[in-house]
Amino acid sequence: MTSVNVEMVKCACPDCVCVVSLEGAVKREEKAFCCDACADGHPEKDGCDHAGCTCHG
Ligand SMILES: [Zn+2]
Ligand SMILES: [Zn+2]
Ligand SMILES: [Zn+2]
Repeated sequence: MTSVNVEMVKCACPDCVCVVSLEGAVKREEKAFCCDACADGHPEKDGCDHAGCTCHG
């Protein structure tokens, strides 16, 4: 059996509850984020589009 080892990390945005794979994450300065809004620190106060996630920066 081959197990695919995808490393999952929590988005580095403090209020974000999303978990992303390292492969699919948006990376900024060694940190992994779930989306551009989180990676940019929510400059427009826009949340990420994920259900159940309340982060807005
Ligand atoms: Zn999120
Ligand atoms: Zn996020
Ligand atoms: Zn966020």
